[in-house]
Amino acid sequence: MSQFDVTVIGSGPGGYVAAIRCAQLGFKTAIIEKYPTMGGTCLNVGCIPSKALLDSSEHFENAKHNFANHGIIINDPVADINRMVARKNEVVDQTTKGIQFLMDKNKITVFEGVGSFESATQIKVTKNDGSTETIDSKYTIIATGSKPSTLPFITLDKERIITSTEALNLKEIPKHLIVIGGGVIGLELGSVYKRLGSEVTVVEFMDKIIPTMDGALSKELNKVLRKQGMKFNLSTGVQSVERNGDTVKVTAKDKKGEEVVFEGDYVLVAVGRKPYTDGLAVEKAGVDLDERGRVKTNEHLQTNVSNIYAIGDVVAGAMLAHKASEEGTLVAELIAGQKPHINYNLIPGVVYTWPEVAAVGKTEEQLKAEGVAIKVGNFPMRALGRSRASGDVDGFIKVIADEKTDEILGVHMIGARAADLIAEAVVAMEYRASAEDISRMSHAHPTYAEAMKEAALDATGKRAIHF
Ligand code: FAD
Ligand code: NAD
Repeated sequence: MSQFDVTVIGSGPGGYVAAIRCAQLGFKTAIIEKYPTMGGTCLNVGCIPSKALLDSSEHFENAKHNFANHGIIINDPVADINRMVARKNEVVDQTTKGIQFLMDKNKITVFEGVGSFESATQIKVTKNDGSTETIDSKYTIIATGSKPSTLPFITLDKERIITSTEALNLKEIPKHLIVIGGGVIGLELGSVYKRLGSEVTVVEFMDKIIPTMDGALSKELNKVLRKQGMKFNLSTGVQSVERNGDTVKVTAKDKKGEEVVFEGDYVLVAVGRKPYTDGLAVEKAGVDLDERGRVKTNEHLQTNVSNIYAIGDVVAGAMLAHKASEEGTLVAELIAGQKPHINYNLIPGVVYTWPEVAAVGKTEEQLKAEGVAIKVGNFPMRALGRSRASGDVDGFIKVIADEKTDEILGVHMIGARAADLIAEAVVAMEYRASAEDISRMSHAHPTYAEAMKEAALDATGKRAIHF
């Protein structure tokens, strides 16, 4: 029987990063992945393919609506969905092969098959051809991720009633895409198809889209996406979804309790994701799950069985690739006897619509609920020279600082390249910068990042220069 110091089950951004860090620390490491390609949800059916389609559809949108304003005339550009999906597949292929390369480079043994516990130290790998192999491992890291959730009354036929996985592989552009859930997936994939010409109707249960983010972001994103033609039905609870041939019908109740019916040709169910432990046989190792099916861990991501850890989407917390990766590194270092730390408050969140939405730290609503005295600075992107040059004038940056100490407690932004701009806020907050600190740092001109300095100036005492 092969023996390993550490075995990682699942090769997503949690698992493969954990495996690489374990190998770097000198552990004999194995990784088990049930699919033939490495990289998990993120690389195969999540972050990377969705961003590839977002980028392609954004080029199309620009060619169709924005190039003429820049003096570039292209008559009637055509969106070729098959080529877009093929390009997306090429991007996925290169990226997943890159992980295989990293496994080889770090001398990590890769097992292809379903990993299931036989005991707390033995894991059986069942390969696609049905053959099995059992390995012995001193430590195991569960990194089995998540799968799309659905609603109890919905039957996903994966053809017209679909999840994000199928929405990344459509063979035609929907005429009318009905999106259930105005969260990250609904708005990102809704944006892809809106840009490609679909009518897109979002049905959201809460009274706002991206409901967990700062209210100001939700309001602005709603405004901008409506301007782009997306339709929103908020405070609307879906009751049933039916398919009839090529037509789908979604019946819901609006906030007055009245029935509303939406008819389209595709329904994207984007109501969250659920932890995935099917086939893992955690009970044979004695590992406990919580009431939501997540692997239960302590603050060191250690399960109730001391040599078994769990990370990423399968444990509590934000379901984000970079959170999973931080946890992978943390667990590897803990096993090596180091004392790593993750500041969960400073895991940034990004929505890759255009304009992009990004945030770190606490929202204004959270800070108010906690009774923290705050000051808030805002700066609109349209006041920047850089925004006017590119034409990306929507959005703002909001900096929230402690009223007394001036320490930055939250940064919330919507605008061009916010996904990249948020890194400055993360660094600042990790070093416990004050709004004054940011306002005194030189920001290159003309850049979108100048809005960060201006919002900080606004927070420190309404000293913004350009607004
Ligand atoms: P996963 O990536 O889910 O990987 C788990 C792996 O374990 C899978 O490969 C699975 O096959 C394997 N596995 C499961 N059980 C077994 C078993 N018993 N044996 C062997 N292998 C097993 N996050 C971001 O931060 N940014 C984004 O832009 C972003 N975009 C997204 C877009 C979409 C459409 C979706 C669906 C998700 C997106 N996410 C994004 C979320 C991100 O993909 C997840 O948070 C991330 O993949 C979680 O990583 P993980 O390693 O915990 O699990
Ligand atoms: P989500 O939690 O972001 O959004 C789900 C939305 O569905 C919420 O707004 C919720 O109120 C709504 N909803 C729930 N039940 C409903 C119902 N019955 N009717 C109508 N609306 C309902 O989940 P998601 O968009 O499915 O994404 C899943 C996970 O994947 C998220 O946790 C997210 O972190 C991750 N993800 C991240 C990114 C990114 O980082 N850019 C992109 C995609 C996905």
